[in-house]
Amino acid sequence: MLFPVRPPDDEGLEGSALSARTALRTAYRMDETACVRERAARGRLSAAERGATQQLARDLVTAVRARRSHGIEAFLREYGLDTREGIVLLCVAETLLRIPDAATADRLIRDKIGGAEWDRHLGQSRSLFVNASTWGLMLTGRVVRFEPDDGAMRRLVGHAGEPVVRAALLQAMKILGHQFVLGRTIVEAMTNAVPNEKRGVRFSYDMLGEGARTADDASRYWQRYADAIAAIGARATGAAVADRPGISVKMSALHPRYEFAKRRRLHNELMPRLVDLAQLAARHNIGLCIDAEEADRLEPSLDMIERLARDPALSGWDGLGLAVQAYQKRGLPLIDWLADLARNSRRRLMVRLVKGAYWDTEVKRAQESGVEGYPVFTRKVSTDVSYLACTRAMFAAGNRLYPQFATHNAYTVAALLAMGGSGTAFEFQRLHGMGEALYEELRARSKAPVRVYAPVGAHEDLLPYLVRRLLENGANTSFVNRIHDET
Ligand SMILES: Cc1cc2nc3c(=O)[nH]c(=O)nc-3n(C[C@H](O)[C@H](O)[C@H](O)COP(=O)(O)OP(=O)(O)OC[C@H]3O[C@@H](n4cnc5c(N)ncnc54)[C@H](O)[C@@H]3O)c2cc1C
Repeated sequence: MLFPVRPPDDEGLEGSALSARTALRTAYRMDETACVRERAARGRLSAAERGATQQLARDLVTAVRARRSHGIEAFLREYGLDTREGIVLLCVAETLLRIPDAATADRLIRDKIGGAEWDRHLGQSRSLFVNASTWGLMLTGRVVRFEPDDGAMRRLVGHAGEPVVRAALLQAMKILGHQFVLGRTIVEAMTNAVPNEKRGVRFSYDMLGEGARTADDASRYWQRYADAIAAIGARATGAAVADRPGISVKMSALHPRYEFAKRRRLHNELMPRLVDLAQLAARHNIGLCIDAEEADRLEPSLDMIERLARDPALSGWDGLGLAVQAYQKRGLPLIDWLADLARNSRRRLMVRLVKGAYWDTEVKRAQESGVEGYPVFTRKVSTDVSYLACTRAMFAAGNRLYPQFATHNAYTVAALLAMGGSGTAFEFQRLHGMGEALYEELRARSKAPVRVYAPVGAHEDLLPYLVRRLLENGANTSFVNRIHDET
């Protein structure tokens, strides 16, 4: 969708902010080759930067490989999405905890687990955890297949049967999910964060539970965010907002119709809720970052961030932030727009630069709606180039933006450090449960602070998040999937 007329919310926008917003809209489904050429021109590394990047990236990868592989990472590597069994696990993870009745759960398990060839994975990994899990899945598969000529299996099924298999798999999915969650409640998560905080690691808490379906859901999530902000604020230490913990907010959790076509409703119903949360965060002087979601939600999120940035009640608070997805063709113009907004509203904005977690969804949606182009790049390298161009633009914005680089890719980390941003304060960010070894190694080589994005919630709420992490870890284009592949 292009924007031939100026949408109503542009009233009051002037000069460079308006032209930056127009540039952003023009880039929505821009031709990929033309777009990458432009991004490459702004993101290209000099020979010296490239040399430094390669050296540091190689050192980091070698050091990470030399460490003993973390069980869960080895598990996700063995069951990547290029194996049938990896896809089976993804399906089970997505559905099993949601199925309310035992009979349907058993049928799902029989359908998915029973047909896969688990024994192919046996002994393939050096990790004991992976091989033990494979044995478990293999046995489960044989139990649910009820092989008639296998007397021992029949006896086992007779004794234990499907309830046991179901309970074991449910438990396994919860264990998998909890690798990525810091605590079930905000208090538990903050307590679990203490040892790392003592080592200087910062935290941003994310209350799991995206996608409100009803007004009641949205009110409940709002209350959860408000309680969490109060709890985080009460225990926060450090003077500057960047040194203190923060919170990440998903707007889709705050309104059941967080959609492009619902501008007026969002203005009247969602905006006041967001203002309340921002004022609460400002009162506690902690950061509040608006997470980036699907591409067609970007425009409404910009309307909101702009209103918050210009709200006099929030002046003097430097904790307002937004996540920007480099895989979107609008990523770079968005950085320019944010830099203009920060200047015009006389504040510093926190900007978390990510590559983007909804790639499969974006591609599928664009194909379903039969439009000509994609809002996201279709080649991984294009996204990487865009990330570097955005980095350059963030450093160029000086202290109008506080850059927060969220990546688990050693080459990206090394390139950012080589690009320097000398004189500009910035931080790295990683997800809880991922990238730990990389950032431990980086600690020995750089003083750049690191913040952990820490999901908080019970298992009912973690499924969409878990599925995104499985997609990320399992994709063979993904750095975390490839780092241990010596070829
Ligand atoms: C602290 C933190 C906060 C985050 N918050 C958000 C958020 O608010 N919103 C959000 O969307 N994501 C968020 N993410 C997730 C983030 O988008 C992924 O973790 C990230 O994309 C992985 O990038 P990488 O540099 O670690 O890995 P890499 O392996 O270098 O990059 C993988 C990424 O490349 C891109 N990619 C893969 N294949 C293709 C292709 N064929 N064409 C084009 N691009 C491709 C995708 O974005 C994919 O995720 C967050 C991540 C972190 C660490």
